[in-house]
Amino acid sequence: MSDPAQRAGALLTVDLDAVVANWRRCQAVAQPARCAAVVKADAYGLGMAPVARVLAEAGCARFFVATIDEGIGLREVLPDREILVLNGPLPGTEADFLEHRLIPVLNAPGQLAGWAAFAAAAGRKLPAALHVDTGMARLGVELYDLWRLAADTAALAAIEVILVMSHLACADTPGHRLNHGQLSIFHTARSLFPGVEGSLAASSGLFLGADWLADWVRPGAALYGLQPTAAGPNPMLPVVRLEAKVLQLRDVDAGDTVGYGATHSITKDTRLATVAAGYADGIFRSLGNRGCGHLGEIEVPLVGRVSMDLIVFDVTEVPADRLQPGAVIELLGPHHTVDDMAKAAGTIGYEVLTALGNRYHRRYLGGAAP
Ligand SMILES: *Cc1c(COP(=O)(O)O)cnc(C)c1O
Repeated sequence: MSDPAQRAGALLTVDLDAVVANWRRCQAVAQPARCAAVVKADAYGLGMAPVARVLAEAGCARFFVATIDEGIGLREVLPDREILVLNGPLPGTEADFLEHRLIPVLNAPGQLAGWAAFAAAAGRKLPAALHVDTGMARLGVELYDLWRLAADTAALAAIEVILVMSHLACADTPGHRLNHGQLSIFHTARSLFPGVEGSLAASSGLFLGADWLADWVRPGAALYGLQPTAAGPNPMLPVVRLEAKVLQLRDVDAGDTVGYGATHSITKDTRLATVAAGYADGIFRSLGNRGCGHLGEIEVPLVGRVSMDLIVFDVTEVPADRLQPGAVIELLGPHHTVDDMAKAAGTIGYEVLTALGNRYHRRYLGGAAP
């Protein structure tokens, strides 16, 4: 059998040393606050186990996932780190949290009541984080419910609140009025739980200034190289590289068209490269006639529609000796970042990363590469 890297149509390289460097950068910006790591959605598509392992080795003590099953999976990788589950317990799942030593983020009075009742029945005080909604209207206990909860001595006798947290809606827009509004509600919420640590900032919030840092920051995107700041150069190191192989080269004449729907017309003698990646691999269909690839410094435009397994590039400008079937075209990397591709596709880097498909041959560089 041939090498899997040889068989794969495209290669996804994840630089674990860059993930660690990005976490250290976040930790340096946040200090004296501490930096947790958000590894939900398979570490934004890059592989939860390898990412969590290197971050734990680098000293990260607290990890956030979204769902309980992600938490159960992460517990197998990290036997001795704190794991918080952002979505909190669905009714009837409380015992799973205890069994796998997962800490729920309690987002609603019902989740709080369920956890308190479970703890009381278990006859012990159980830890939880409390998520307060400060203006996003997504998850979190609203402030007026929090006043009542803070006075509910029975519930609080059963729950050890280890963290009061909230989430910013507009942290990527530093001047947005909601940032200050949320901060002020967050302060009020924290005053109800004196002595309990707080957490407000994710990747972009980290760069809003010291007022937003509280005791813990919770970056995800920045660890994976996405730009957390609204302007200027990206302070994070790039983490992913995606290279797809040329399956076929062809020379076409003026008058021909390319791909489904014949959306790209050839106007002069042109060389085309058909490449092994498509929307099933997370190359968004919106990149049709808008995306690009790179061969070294040469940018090659994506022409025609994106199909399920294939895309086509106009490689007329590339010297013929640099291209043959099996050669790779860079889709993501130093010349075209995840944020660049997202912009061309009309989305955000988060969606590009979490859409990366599972047909790629994945390679991990650095760290304790598996
Ligand atoms: C996803 C998420 C994060 C991480 O956000 P990034 O923008 O990726 O840093 C932090 N906190 C909560 C509540 C989240 O849902």
